[in-house]
Amino acid sequence: MSIQIAAALDKPPAFLGDVADPADILAWLGSVPTAAYHEDGIAACVHAFAATIGLAVEADDDGNLQVWHRGPGGSAHRSIAVSAHMDHPALEITNVAPLRARLLGSIRPESFVDPVPVRLFWREADPSRDDERAAASGGRWQDATGRVIGAAPLAGDPDARVALDLESEADVPVGAFGTFDFGPVRHDPATGCLHLTAADDLAGCAIVLAWLARCVRDGVGADSGGVFTRAEEVGLVGAAALASRRGLPDDALVVSIEASRELPGAIIGEGPVIRVGDAATTFHPAGDALLRAARDAMRREDPGARVQRQLMSGGVCEGTTYTAAGYVTGAVCVPLGNYHNQAPTGGIAAEYVHVDDLRGCAALLQATSVLLAGGFDWPKDDPLSQRYLTRPAAQMERLRRTARRPA
Ligand SMILES: [Zn+2]
Repeated sequence: MSIQIAAALDKPPAFLGDVADPADILAWLGSVPTAAYHEDGIAACVHAFAATIGLAVEADDDGNLQVWHRGPGGSAHRSIAVSAHMDHPALEITNVAPLRARLLGSIRPESFVDPVPVRLFWREADPSRDDERAAASGGRWQDATGRVIGAAPLAGDPDARVALDLESEADVPVGAFGTFDFGPVRHDPATGCLHLTAADDLAGCAIVLAWLARCVRDGVGADSGGVFTRAEEVGLVGAAALASRRGLPDDALVVSIEASRELPGAIIGEGPVIRVGDAATTFHPAGDALLRAARDAMRREDPGARVQRQLMSGGVCEGTTYTAAGYVTGAVCVPLGNYHNQAPTGGIAAEYVHVDDLRGCAALLQATSVLLAGGFDWPKDDPLSQRYLTRPAAQMERLRRTARRPA
């Protein structure tokens, strides 16, 4: 796949891979630049992919997207909505002489020890229009290369906590966005990893698209919706807008999907992770039960199926937002290397995820949809919950026999 260039924003690149393979889809999405408030390119890819698999896209006033597969008879059961965000930590130009930007997303300023190559994107000016919405639908996309040469803390900006100094040969306008430029998406056959600028959360988007394609292909009988949100990296803004106006079905199991910082117990290449909570909150036990049951169903088919389960405390995800709005929530993720482009040894680098984790996660979501189509619900169908509610009669009888009687 090509490097990120403006051409990918004017028209989504053609997808030539397998619609059911999230690794193919991620290699495609990874060629398209994205940033908080600048998700046009990825949104165009979602539209193009949905058309390919025969599903409609609903866009709301905030630009969040929903793509629903309606299962035959699915409405009789709980539906499932899986939410991925379309943005990634990136920058936005705030000043031209000298060239400065704010960082839209959370990266330590100390990570910018060495110059970091960036690619900058903006629309050709349309002098007849000057408001922000007009700019968002203006002329052709342009791009230029540049470098981040310094970073410092920034106060008083709701979207950013770091200011960046840049240099570029081009005349880059205020409002342009920029992405770190690590070249084309790279598959390393030795490790099985895909290396790219924005695995968080294009990996989530890719898995959701592959899951929808599998639901369509197999005629899965549960209403299964992909949710593609905006501006997560500056404070889960798109999800907050969607959740606060209750823009998802009230009865839905809402699953947050992320590429999340690798942790002990959530190792790259060891399978997708059932995420029981994030750095802020834990999610609904019904979500955990459904995902555990889906894992168990996968293992009955393939005893070697790898699925991990962990509290992913490396960051906050949209699961916390949906939980706060009262939805029944769950979460999954794939373990992520170089979280937010921060190399553990210092410096800025490409993120990476394992292709087996991507594929395992799509399979886990598909198994969850199949369970919902079969009427699975918590706690009645959760063996673990039932095990700790219903104890053997002998234990119950002994408990009663040995109870101290009131005098
Ligand atoms: Zn992130």
